Amino acid sequence: MSLLKHLSNNVGKSIKAKIIVIESDDWGSIRMPSNKIRESLERKGFDLGKGEERYRYSLYDTLASKDDFEQLFNTLTAFKDSKGKYPVFTAMALVANPDFEGIAKSNFTQYFYEPMLKTLERYGIENAFDYWREGFQEHLFVPEFHGREHLNITSWIRKLKAEDKPTVAAFESQMWAVNTSLALDYQAAFDLEETSDLEMQHDVISSGLKLFEQLFNRRARFFVPPNGPINNALFKTAKANGIEYISSPKLQKEVFGNGKTKNRFHWLGKTNRFGQLTITRNCFFEPSDRSKDWVASCLYDIEMAFRYNKPAVISSHRVNYIGGLAVHNRDHGLKELDRLLKTILKKWPSLEFMTSTELGYLIANK
Ligand SMILES: [Zn+2]
Repeated sequence: MSLLKHLSNNVGKSIKAKIIVIESDDWGSIRMPSNKIRESLERKGFDLGKGEERYRYSLYDTLASKDDFEQLFNTLTAFKDSKGKYPVFTAMALVANPDFEGIAKSNFTQYFYEPMLKTLERYGIENAFDYWREGFQEHLFVPEFHGREHLNITSWIRKLKAEDKPTVAAFESQMWAVNTSLALDYQAAFDLEETSDLEMQHDVISSGLKLFEQLFNRRARFFVPPNGPINNALFKTAKANGIEYISSPKLQKEVFGNGKTKNRFHWLGKTNRFGQLTITRNCFFEPSDRSKDWVASCLYDIEMAFRYNKPAVISSHRVNYIGGLAVHNRDHGLKELDRLLKTILKKWPSLEFMTSTELGYLIANK
């Protein structure tokens, strides 16, 4: 593990300054609508990942409420870096969710989606959107693009049409994140089941980025493809709609449909054929998984990054900061975030907090 960490931090652009970026995925996506729905699906015997790492998403991950935002912002504003700036979340946002009613009316023959703001209204938490705005104004929570919806539309619709039992049962509960007989994970929005699905995905990216601009009154600059698999031709459409920086695993599986894939290697600062700059993650902080001390392990990740003059790019999903399904989950996540921030500011008083977009800009203009 540690040799690999040395190697993976060794390649890529070097930066002397001690920079901390927190990338937080999945904001805006429904995931688990309520405890009632989870319990009823479990009673029916559906696989929600019990006993696996992903189970914490079924237990805790849902739309962020006003309380979630208030407490997250309280935690962040308790700290400032050497330049007087607060810690900031680069919030990887999904700007839409499926329009379940519309799809049902079409008998699964057509796909419709609703803007995230509409989803918040349906859930009676539209006041949470004020915090999306406030978080941006205060530079605490800066949304960027994770996709239109966290869903592989073509695969999902195909399974709905075929009346796949778990997929339909989940649909009736207004969700999609259950395990099915499908080889492909519905959460992986840009995985390619059939090569011909690619055309639809180009449209998902361009309409998603346009919706992002409508919601937030600015264009997204940074794109984190959900779960990794993607066909890299989609980055051209992302570029045409404003995306300058792309998150990528160091080893990416490029997908071509019908099971064909190719391994691609990436590193921090690498530029692709469309001129977009790659940002890679090298630190992890997932305290909703109680199996280890994430402050200690993240501290080690950051230490390794700084030792090789790399920025520390921390991956920390929304699920860690949500209390809607279990308040103790949010309390614990924020307590651990507080402990992490306290520890790193003490250890590296000169560190700077930045968004992924600010980091991308810094590297591109160095
Ligand atoms: Zn995600």
